[in-house]
Amino acid sequence: MSERSETRRSFLRSAAIAGTAAAGISRSTFASPAAETYFAGAAEREITPPIGMEITHFVRENIGVHDPLFVRALVIRDAHGQQIALVSADALGAGFATCDEIRNRVKDQCGMDEVWFSCSHTHSGRWVLSTPTPGRKYTEELWWDDGTHVALTDRPAELEWNTAVHQKIVEVVREAKERLKPAELRTGRAKVKVGINRRVTRPDGFTHMGWNRQGVIVPWVSTLSAHNKKTQKPIFVLFEHAAHPVTVPHTSRLVSADFPGAAVTAMRKELPAECIAAFGQGCSANINSFPLRTTHEDATAAGTKLGAAALLAIEKSQVVGGDTIRFQSIPTLLPTRPLPSEKLIEQQLTAQHNHPDRIKQLNKIAAYRATRKAPPPRRLDAHGVMLGREFCLIGLPYEHFSHTERWIDREAPFANTMAFTLTNGGRGYIGSDAGLAMGANGGYEAGCMPNWSAHEVMSPNLGPPAVGSERIIQDAITALWA
Ligand SMILES: [Zn+2]
Repeated sequence: MSERSETRRSFLRSAAIAGTAAAGISRSTFASPAAETYFAGAAEREITPPIGMEITHFVRENIGVHDPLFVRALVIRDAHGQQIALVSADALGAGFATCDEIRNRVKDQCGMDEVWFSCSHTHSGRWVLSTPTPGRKYTEELWWDDGTHVALTDRPAELEWNTAVHQKIVEVVREAKERLKPAELRTGRAKVKVGINRRVTRPDGFTHMGWNRQGVIVPWVSTLSAHNKKTQKPIFVLFEHAAHPVTVPHTSRLVSADFPGAAVTAMRKELPAECIAAFGQGCSANINSFPLRTTHEDATAAGTKLGAAALLAIEKSQVVGGDTIRFQSIPTLLPTRPLPSEKLIEQQLTAQHNHPDRIKQLNKIAAYRATRKAPPPRRLDAHGVMLGREFCLIGLPYEHFSHTERWIDREAPFANTMAFTLTNGGRGYIGSDAGLAMGANGGYEAGCMPNWSAHEVMSPNLGPPAVGSERIIQDAITALWA
């Protein structure tokens, strides 16, 4: 074992934590914490789907488990008794209906003032669905939000798994709350990259998936860790990095948390057994993990690298001051880009005659056009948890480009920041203004009709967000800091 890892091990396992260097975080003005400030607790439960149950994305039936999936909860209470739960799941995602349900239930049953539900976006797990209730109607919006066209009530095994996930989320928050202990919070950052920018624009202007070596990524991992005030042993580590978990190949039919799960495994080798490490997905809409869709072993290697960087970030971390959790949500609507012209709709009705789903969407758009109303906007609530002057966690529904995370990092009036996407709802992509301005050339994440491979073309909003959405999101985030 190297001298460095010896040092780290003693740092993480024992009380020797005082006087660490300030490297890694700019704008550092750190106050000493007051006597009793924060309390922290954490817990986890396994949520691996049984053999035979579909995993996605791409969709395939699973034949076993490479590594198990978990839901994890971190609870923080401040000196005034306010308490929040940050819940992170090894899941592809969850829509607004699901997240609203989870957040309301946990607030009610666990006495939390605020609850977030975030997904790691593993592509070898499942989407978490909302619970069917008697008499509930499946609208087009709900089908899209839940990411399915088959009601859970018609899939008993999947309903059972999904219901168990909902129950386990309540259980983990309850257990984390029971385990609350006086804690010192610390935040850190270290350099690392496991991903590449995946948006390549061809000479003819069309954007496709590949490796854009000049493209913007987020080359760091940020941490928020809680340390037992008496023993200084870590209680939890929350770490965030931006990259699609797509190193596990879609040809593998084994369940896996991909590189985020491997990062947790690597970190746990160095952390006390009772310490929970939980991952948050950053602004990775334009970032794929690397190498793309190769082997489980490559995912383990990427996760091991990320885990080592997260441990280094804790080693270099700084104490979070203050004694109050500030949290806020800014409900926001993003306008949808103007609907396609009548001429384009006419052309497409002919060109897409072999695609009934597309014809249905075209007819819906044509009918909507006739009303002369603006197309339906998207809900995009921006969420923030602010701790002292040292730390801010931004939570956003949907998937966002790395530009958003870089902007948050630049503009936030805090020493360190994290940005979670796939948090508290949303299905699909919010392109950057530059991507959205490319129109049909904007690729999978930002393109519009007649590019049918663009994700948002089939959405109930009838197209991707409008150019100008970037500013609306930035204004909402700025309002969180006011
Ligand atoms: Zn994605």
